[in-house]
Amino acid sequence: MRCWLIVLVLLPGPALAEWYRDARDMMGTRVSVELWADSAEQGNAAINDAMAAMAEVNRLMNPWDEASELSAVNRSAASKPVPLSAWVYDVVHSALEYSRLSGGAFDISFASAGQYYDYRAGVAPNASQLAAAIPSIDYRSLLLDSEKRSLAFRRDGVRVDLGGIAKGFAVDRAIDAVQSHGVESAVISAGGDSRILGNLGDRPRTIGIRHPRKAGEFAVMIPLEDTAISTSGDYERFFIADDGRRVHHILDPATGKSAGFVQSASILAPLAVDSDALSTTVFVLGVDAGLAMVNRLPEIEAIVIDDAGRLHFSAGLLRESP
Ligand code: ADP
Ligand code: MG
Repeated sequence: MRCWLIVLVLLPGPALAEWYRDARDMMGTRVSVELWADSAEQGNAAINDAMAAMAEVNRLMNPWDEASELSAVNRSAASKPVPLSAWVYDVVHSALEYSRLSGGAFDISFASAGQYYDYRAGVAPNASQLAAAIPSIDYRSLLLDSEKRSLAFRRDGVRVDLGGIAKGFAVDRAIDAVQSHGVESAVISAGGDSRILGNLGDRPRTIGIRHPRKAGEFAVMIPLEDTAISTSGDYERFFIADDGRRVHHILDPATGKSAGFVQSASILAPLAVDSDALSTTVFVLGVDAGLAMVNRLPEIEAIVIDDAGRLHFSAGLLRESP
């Protein structure tokens, strides 16, 4: 008996510092949380709160859910200002900043035309639907009141969708959640939007950017530490039209049609809300205008794969390469 007691004392306790991970289907994609915690209790509590934060973003901003706040905005904002919760206000506020910065390449009212696409069914709007929708694509029609914290539309026919920015915002809120549990190293992803907290052990983690035309292959590998990275690609949701053109989910607000200059745009930024919005923005702007914009922004880098499959890097990445 005494002997057993001694053995027990010599064994390490149940509290184990190690990696804890979980992945779920959410926001129309796969979300995952990986973190380093001192105990299973800390690890599981942090994972649960991270998942809950992302589920809350989905509850507020899911365009397919009639009960979401976003749906309420789309139903009523043309007739009266709709009060927004703090998170929806923050996302719309950031979205409008990126609209102004990009001269409208990023525009959440793209959905005025975007609502007519069904990528799975191979459906695109016809010419008259597009002509009717295009005047409603204009971020200047969105009146965000910072005092009342409400959103109104200046005209009928406007529809907004936060698909180009909400997943990044969700990843940031999930990082806040794990940090509130004292976690210092984590990787949280929602589809093509990821953020790395801290450094992951002795070496920086490497993230691969998917090859836009070769399934399962990577075009570039980049070492990452304490950063967010998002990729927007024309291969996520698309169909090939009868005329051979690729019809995909990133729309040029000027035409209501799929933006055609690049195959993918990846952005590095401190926060995922910024990398997410900017990856969509640079995708729409194309290589030259996209990289010119990124090169003016502090702490933002980009890797763009053009329509011929060639790689282009922002100035900061070129400086860092040997
Ligand atoms: P995903 O991670 O879903 O592939 P992206 O960051 O590449 O997302 O953004 C694509 C999504 O952004 C589209 O599905 C749509 O919801 C939204 N979107 C498309 N075009 C625009 C645009 N010009 N401005 C803002 N959002 C857009
Ligand atoms: Mg994006």
